[in-house]
Amino acid sequence: MHPQHGAFVITPQKVDGSGILIGKQNRFPVEPSREEWNVIQVDKASAVSFLQQNNSVFGSIATTSATHIPHDQTDIWPFYIIPKLDSWASANERVIILGDAAHVIPSSAGQGINQAFVDVYMLALLSGLSQENKRIERATAMKFWQEYRQSRINGVMELNKQIDARRLPVGDESGRELRDKKFELDWLYNVDFEAVVKTWIDEQEVK
Ligand SMILES: Cc1cc2nc3c(=O)[nH]c(=O)nc-3n(C[C@H](O)[C@H](O)[C@H](O)COP(=O)(O)OP(=O)(O)OC[C@H]3O[C@@H](n4cnc5c(N)ncnc54)[C@H](O)[C@@H]3O)c2cc1C
Repeated sequence: MHPQHGAFVITPQKVDGSGILIGKQNRFPVEPSREEWNVIQVDKASAVSFLQQNNSVFGSIATTSATHIPHDQTDIWPFYIIPKLDSWASANERVIILGDAAHVIPSSAGQGINQAFVDVYMLALLSGLSQENKRIERATAMKFWQEYRQSRINGVMELNKQIDARRLPVGDESGRELRDKKFELDWLYNVDFEAVVKTWIDEQEVK
């Protein structure tokens, strides 16, 4: 990490280190159109040059590791999110979407598949437990599920912003506060989803 130039990511892809992934993030102040993305995507020389520039600030390993980058092994990954959806189910709840289809997020925090797993886990718990408890309408359970899951996704999006603020080269000063903010990850990792579902079910019974 460098305070001005952001992050230089280097991760072994094979146990013996014979293949590595090198990554850097950059801002596009003006969003490219679909046609412009197509042009950027095939401009491998620019991608390699981007991966090689300013690397001395990250130390000699960054410089040497990026010396020979095969053009056909470069890729560009634009980070997009989909707008928040009103509903993750069809009108009669016969079709339900989850995971990326419901809330695709950039993987800055490495949470994409994790959030999809939690969607499935909580949906299964809720379906099973609300079927046992005939007083809970399926639509009510689905509403709770989507709202709870969306609130966690919102939290991950905020975390992504915080991580991106550190990894990106310094642009304007708007990201400074986020860059310096301490990471709070307890809400993300220290959670018992079964207890959350059971507590919610119990609350419905009391009403
Ligand atoms: C480069 C990259 C790196 C990532 N790194 C991480 C990471 O480190 N940690 C992490 O947690 N997440 C990461 N993610 C995100 C993670 O891969 C996704 O969040 C996760 O795969 C979402 O799972 P999903 O089942 O919702 O969707 P998908 O995995 O996209 O599965 C959808 C499936 O539906 C199929 N499909 C699409 N249309 C149709 C159709 N019409 N008919 C039939 N089948 C269809 C697709 O082929 C696909 O197999 C990364 C993603 C990318 C692209």
